[in-house]
Amino acid sequence: MIFESLSDRLQQTFKKLRGHGKLTEDDVNEAMREVRMALLEADVNFKVVKNFVKTVKERAIGQDILQTLTPAQVVIKIVDEELTALMGGTQSRIHMSSQPPTIIMMVGLQGAGKTTSAGKLGLSLKQQGKRPLLVADDIYRPAAVKQLEVIGASLGLPVFKMAPGTDAVAIARGAVDYAQSHLNDVIIIDTAGRLQVDERLMNELKDIKGNVHPHEILLVVDAMTGQEAVNVAQSFHNQLGLDGVVMTKLDGDARGGAALSIKAVTGVPIKFVGMGEKLDPLEPFHPDRMASRILG
Ligand code: GDP
Repeated sequence: MIFESLSDRLQQTFKKLRGHGKLTEDDVNEAMREVRMALLEADVNFKVVKNFVKTVKERAIGQDILQTLTPAQVVIKIVDEELTALMGGTQSRIHMSSQPPTIIMMVGLQGAGKTTSAGKLGLSLKQQGKRPLLVADDIYRPAAVKQLEVIGASLGLPVFKMAPGTDAVAIARGAVDYAQSHLNDVIIIDTAGRLQVDERLMNELKDIKGNVHPHEILLVVDAMTGQEAVNVAQSFHNQLGLDGVVMTKLDGDARGGAALSIKAVTGVPIKFVGMGEKLDPLEPFHPDRMASRILG
């Protein structure tokens, strides 16, 4: 389970803190040392941890909470609020265009879960009464087109593809025309992934962006890759400008550092999370619920 070890450690720390009754500044400092270690071990970005601990300490000591009847509870509440803030505070939704079709571009490295998430997102939108169109725009892996077709068929979603050899921009433009004439109000473009961020990948994505002007560019990252996911997000954001992140494989045993760092480091919010290989609807990301889950 994601955050399991972080959650256990924080719970132990706060249990100890509660046992103290009245708290001294030293008690708070000691607890925050443990929180810092727990966050670092969960692979949270070093600078993020530093700022986090500083903010919590300032709030805890500054507010004279040490005089309150249940100071430990107040410290826990501050940690809860600051964890929530770290992950973006409130839920970030996707922008729907007032003039359909809304164009969503899914980008990411190979294996992150992009194609699966495109299908899951399509299913969520369909359940909200939309008529999404999945677009097979990964032209380098013939298997990717097939994979999207299989996903589309199992979810009852149409899949747009063009003849092999058609370039990625032409496919994206073709999909917009198709959607307009077939009354599809959302287009989800499954773009090509690579094993690493490279110039060719970025240039192709920039070309698609420049031609179809997506309303949302969502980066799909694998939570299991930890800080690497944060680096990937930073470079995609610098080059392409991202609107949100889909963080997959939260059902696995990732330590959770990527989920806690990505917004703070890049400014890009997590909008959805992937919770399994099964084609369930994509789950919206709620920072406050995630913080409560971490604190148990
Ligand atoms: P793409 O190369 O980025 O398009 O990745 P795929 O969509 O093909 O997914 C790669 C693998 O990750 C597949 O085996 C998926 O079933 C799996 N996968 C995708 N999302 C999740 C998720 O949220 N949880 C888990 N456990 N597996 C996932």
